[in-house]
Amino acid sequence: LASSLLANYCTELHDDQTLKVDKYLHHFQLSDKTLMDLSVRFRREMDRGLSRDTNPTAAVKMLPTFVRSTPDGTEQGEFLALDLGGSNFRVLLVKVMANGKQEVEMENQTYEIPEHIMRGCGSELFDHIADCLANFLEKLGIKDKKLPLGFTFSFPCQQTKLDESVLVHWTKSFRAYGVEGKDVVSLLKKSIQKRGVSAQNPSFMDFDVDILAVINDTVGTMMTCGYDDHHCEIGLIVGTGTNACYMEQMRNLELLDGDEGRMCVNTEWGAFGDDGALEDLRTDVDREIDAGSLNPGKQLFEKMISGLYLGEVVRLILVRMTKEKLLFQGKTSAKLLKTGSFSTSFIYGIDTDKEEEGVEHAEEVLRGLGLDPLVEDCIATQRVCQVVSTRSAHLCAAALVAVLRQIRDNKAAEKLRMSGLKTKEKLNKMYLLFLRFSRRLHKMVRRLVPDCDVRFLQSQCGSGKGAAMVTAVAYRLAVQHAE
Ligand code: BGC
Ligand code: MG
Repeated sequence: LASSLLANYCTELHDDQTLKVDKYLHHFQLSDKTLMDLSVRFRREMDRGLSRDTNPTAAVKMLPTFVRSTPDGTEQGEFLALDLGGSNFRVLLVKVMANGKQEVEMENQTYEIPEHIMRGCGSELFDHIADCLANFLEKLGIKDKKLPLGFTFSFPCQQTKLDESVLVHWTKSFRAYGVEGKDVVSLLKKSIQKRGVSAQNPSFMDFDVDILAVINDTVGTMMTCGYDDHHCEIGLIVGTGTNACYMEQMRNLELLDGDEGRMCVNTEWGAFGDDGALEDLRTDVDREIDAGSLNPGKQLFEKMISGLYLGEVVRLILVRMTKEKLLFQGKTSAKLLKTGSFSTSFIYGIDTDKEEEGVEHAEEVLRGLGLDPLVEDCIATQRVCQVVSTRSAHLCAAALVAVLRQIRDNKAAEKLRMSGLKTKEKLNKMYLLFLRFSRRLHKMVRRLVPDCDVRFLQSQCGSGKGAAMVTAVAYRLAVQHAE
């Protein structure tokens, strides 16, 4: 009897807390109808970005990438790749072998980009990248080779060709000055060329590379999945930031001449809402996140979805609920009040399938933040995490569905398969989040477009390896031209 009473008590406690949080966060819970409407809205934004007349004022820029085809499997050679834009900077050496098995081997090294360089002078950022590249080449003993290089640069860029890419504006945690409006290939070349050069030795060359391509991480993700699966036509990233790319018909890409064939378009969907289109869905918490960010007014959709912001969304909700005496008996702590103290990674441990473990983890986290939580508080915190990360997955699903419909309309009915989410390979916790996130995402996508056959694939190190693949294709085409 005692244990069944206890079980009843626990269920009740749980239901009460869920109810309380859900009531408080009703604005965070989006119905299928709202998501469908959002999807239709996003589809219109895509059209605005694609059309010549409306593009200049469109929030979602639909940037041409000059990537026209996925690898055909005959590519081969050694390629360098740089991957900048997430939480790490990486240098990779990728060997592509045209042995029928399409094997890709790689060496890679992660380098840190200190905050003062991310937010300092642009030329120092590129000098640092050149330093890391030099270190990598030296370690592998290949400094004397001039290898083709692909650069994954995961920010919105205006491209006029594959190897020229002008940064529109920084996003996420980057804000180095003097880079916006400039071609990042030229900046990198300059930093490489000036190494070791002095008045005594003006023609010194430390090392040289052949920069053939600049791509977005979404494009890299699509390319690596396309390598094993030629039907992969969408690349999706939900990491530090969020974005998607897909293969579009040239005739719909009004910004470019030519109607034949297809080109990959970088949607830059993170900027959805920057013109006010999401005001009915954004909450006070979203506005507070934006106001405290490095780029207020920009990337409003991204700020409701991606890893750089979700922990802070949870923290702000907890603070508000505490101030309204709905949590911790109205008592906050210095740590809880500190920006960034609730890391996004906490969410993964709390919002798990094993609810009880999640509640225990919530207690640990809350104690770590200097709070003295009751069971109720831990259950409520878990619910907050669930609601926030579910909203993220559902918003993503709505935009993705618009892209799926666009592709489907483009070529009626052909079966789609798509590339997976990016995961941070080393972090187990991230992987759990990935599973949960992708399950919610898939479920909602299928609910919104039941008649569309979508396959989700997960890309391994896609964003970096993809740059090598694009470079390999560019290299193959260049060699074919020369012959
Ligand atoms: C950038 C995109 C990028 C995404 C994921 C966003 O902040 O604007 O270019 O693809 O983050 O890294
Ligand atoms: Mg066209």
